[in-house]
Parts: sequence; structure tokens; C-alpha cells
Amino acid sequence: MSALKPGSTIGIIGGGQLGRMLAMAAARLGYRTVVLDPQGDCPAAQVANEQIVAAYDDAHGLARLGSECEIVTYEFENVPVEAAKSLGANHPVFPPPRALEMAQDRLTEKQFLNDAGIATAPFKAVDSNESLADALAVFGGSGVLKTRRLGYDGKGQKVFRDAGGDQTAGVYEGMGSVPLILEGFVPFSTEISVVAARNAQGTKAAFDASENLHQGGILKRSTVPAHVQPKTLSAARAATLRILDALDYVGVIGVEFFVLGDGSVIANEMAPRVHNSGHWTEAACAVSQFEQHIRAICGLPLGNTARHSDCVMENLIGDDLDEAERLAAEPGLVLHLYGKTDARPGRKMGHFTRISRKS
Ligand code: AMP
Repeated sequence: MSALKPGSTIGIIGGGQLGRMLAMAAARLGYRTVVLDPQGDCPAAQVANEQIVAAYDDAHGLARLGSECEIVTYEFENVPVEAAKSLGANHPVFPPPRALEMAQDRLTEKQFLNDAGIATAPFKAVDSNESLADALAVFGGSGVLKTRRLGYDGKGQKVFRDAGGDQTAGVYEGMGSVPLILEGFVPFSTEISVVAARNAQGTKAAFDASENLHQGGILKRSTVPAHVQPKTLSAARAATLRILDALDYVGVIGVEFFVLGDGSVIANEMAPRVHNSGHWTEAACAVSQFEQHIRAICGLPLGNTARHSDCVMENLIGDDLDEAERLAAEPGLVLHLYGKTDARPGRKMGHFTRISRKS
């Protein structure tokens, strides 16, 4: 496959900050971008060549996107699979819609990971209060109950600790009477993630793993290098590369892992897109995860993932945006704001990365 010619157009489904950073990376490599998002003047549209304001499953919007671009990608994992497949009839859609299918349902995702020989938390499907009580009994009364679909940043989750059957009354209805999954509680010491890419020729490249701290279910900080054993890094990297091959993947993926006390890893979830825990790459690597994704989907050679600096990336969430001016004065700090004006609590407004000499 020859590389997409400069001046060609990439369609991006989803117009949040990830789409914005993909559009900026695409522009640097000479590509045009058209963003499909229902919200006008979304973060990605502010930097893309054009926005189509339409719902992700709107037939007219999708047809227009298809007519205006050579290839299609997406910036979030809840893109309707049917929309990706319909565009796929006439255009390359990367990452492949099968990756979306696997990642959209936590049950399917865990089954896929286990089939690929990758350990996950033990899990059971839950579709009533009775099946919740049965599953909790199997996991000794502790576990994390999650919606199978459409959960993100810790939303749609409930933690049980030493719970008896009496604590399950009304829970299924309280979670919206939707298909659920109970995961056994993982006593992790650290959380890490690996962002990696694969191109259509099957060449793969992984960035260094980051160590991640979550607050209130939202990523707060990613530190690189992660303070874990070398065997932990190689296990997480190997599992990520295996996932890429198993999905015949093209593009960037982010895979989150729990690290246990003995240094072994358990996969938590995979995101078929660029990942918040990979934002540090724009400051500490010559080629960022965003450029790497554009390179992979456009058939360009993958970039060097080597890291020239140690770094700590932090998200600016809600009112943290007020810190931006002070942060901008700090030497060795790379600031990135998303063009959002309404700093609601819990909303990701930007991020910054502090770089320091490589240890
Ligand atoms: P998730 O939306 O699945 O990424 O979960 C959000 C956060 O909740 C994770 O980053 C962990 O900190 C915590 N968590 C999720 N699942 C489990 C589990 N099975 N055991 C322990 N902690 C969990």
C-alpha cells in the first residue's frame, strides 16, 4: 500500500480533544481533516478544515463524510459500529471496526483478551439482582460492578466490599436496568498503560509505559518512566503488541493494566484510539502518539517511539484551567489547552507535561 498523498482528506468521527490533537498532527503532515460531531464549534472543529454537524449515526452526515474524505478514523470508542462498517464499504476505516466491537462491551472485551492469552480480572455477566448476588458470592463479596457498554472515566460503576446478598436489592435498577458485568476486585499496587501502534504491513512500535494515577475515576497524572520492574514493562508491552496482531489492527491503541504486588500484569481495558495516558509523548518524544496514529492510518512509516526526556503529564480538569497562566511561565513545561470555554467539574480542559533529564 502506498502512502496517502499530502493534500488528501482524513475523516475523523468525534470532535473532542483527541480529535483536535489528531487534526493538528494530520495538518503537520500535510493532510486535510473533516470532523463529524453533533456539537458545533467542538474542540476538533476549531482546528480542522471542516466540520459536519450531525449525529454519529446520521445517514446523511456519514454519507457526506464519506464523499469528502479518502480514509476515516475515530477518536472515541463508542462510535456506532454500524456507522464505521457502512463507511468501511467504500473507504479504509482505521482502526478496524472489529476493534470497536471488541472494546465497546466490557464482557466481549474480556473474553477477547482471555482468548488472546491475556489475563484480566475474573468476571461474570450480571443481568438481575439475583445474578449479582450469585456473582458476588463467587468473588467473596467484593468486586466492581460496571455497565457493559458506554462507561468511561469511572462512570457507571459501583464498588462492593465484603457485601452480602442483602446489599444487592435494587442495584440492577439503580444502574439503569442495562447489561452489567461484575469484576473481581483486583488488589493492584499500581496502574500502568501502554500506547502502541501497528501499520497495515504489520510493523509495530510501542511507547514506554506510563504509570497512571486516577482521581474520582478520571486520569489525573501519568509518569514516565513508570516505577515498576523491567519484567512488568515487558509483560505489558508484549500483551499490547499481541492485541494489535490479534485484531489485525491499524492505528494507535491504548491498553490499561493493573500491576500486582509480584510484578505481574492484568489487563483492565483497551481503547482503540489515541489515549489520555499517551499525551506525554508530544513533549518527551520526537513523534507523538497523534502523529503516530496519522502515520499508521495513512501508510507512512511509523515514527521512532524513543523518549528523549523523563516526564510527568497532568490533566487540567474543571477549574484547574485557572492555573494555565501560572503554568505557562514554568520552564520545561509544555502546556496544551483544548479550546473549551465551559470549565464544568470533571471536564478535561487541557493538560501539561513537565519534562526533565532522562534518568
Ligand atoms: P475503568 O473504567 O474500568 O478503567 O475503571 C476506572 C478505575 O477504577 C480503574 O482505573 C481502577 O482504578 C478502578 N478499578 C476498575 N476495575 C477494578 C477492579 N476490577 N479492581 C480494582 N479496581 C478497579
